[in-house]
Amino acid sequence: MRPRIVAGNWKMNTSRNTAVQLAREVVAGLSGVDGVQVVVCPPYPYLQAVYNEVQGSPLALGAQDAHFQPKGAYTGEVSPAMLLDVGCSYVILGHSERRHGLAEPEALINFKVEAALQAGLYVILCVGETLQEREAGRIDQVLQRQVASGLAGLTPERLTRLILAYEPVWAIGTGRVASSEQAQSAQASIRQFVARLFNDAIAQSLPILYGGSVTPESAPQLFAQPDVDGGLIGGASLKSADFLAIAAAARR
Ligand code: PEP
Repeated sequence: MRPRIVAGNWKMNTSRNTAVQLAREVVAGLSGVDGVQVVVCPPYPYLQAVYNEVQGSPLALGAQDAHFQPKGAYTGEVSPAMLLDVGCSYVILGHSERRHGLAEPEALINFKVEAALQAGLYVILCVGETLQEREAGRIDQVLQRQVASGLAGLTPERLTRLILAYEPVWAIGTGRVASSEQAQSAQASIRQFVARLFNDAIAQSLPILYGGSVTPESAPQLFAQPDVDGGLIGGASLKSADFLAIAAAARR
């Protein structure tokens, strides 16, 4: 049975105080959410402070990006080893706000995925089509290209800590959530493609999350789909009650 995962992407939000407070509230509410791995991904400067709140609890800590080198002359960058050192076990890579907003190339994302997995982090690799690509009927083509390039060169053994997140770009931060049919259809086809790239056992054990304007109202139907194993949550992860309700909806 695939794990259920709900991860909160706080993006460039919170302050030191509000980050700690939010983490504290999520930890306190987690007792009602069994059977779901819940993760929060604060901004880099607050990772340590949030770690102090979550350590010893079931709430896992993640980062929103990582560089592919372990150390060196890479101004402004943070390595997977540094993330592990401050208590992270997860990292989000290939988020559309980096792919499209910062023109992060697919080859770079692939280096990052490989380095983060090798370092021992769980990687949440985001893929998703733009509205223009959807309207042009290119959903599968885009998703397959992003999955294939993100996982290029990886051996099946490397994939045990991999998680994919299907995040249609048109649904992120727009309030326009994909329908459960749209999410299921895209995620089933991603899973079939992973089976072709690697094998069926890997595809069947790979968690695939949905992300894009998930709310406590939309989560239950999305998470009821057979190929939706949880969610990557942006805006709604900044309110503990909403985030906890979404996490609870991911219980089997
Ligand atoms: C995200 O940034 O990964 C995301 C899904 O954001 P939102 O939930 O706000 O659409």
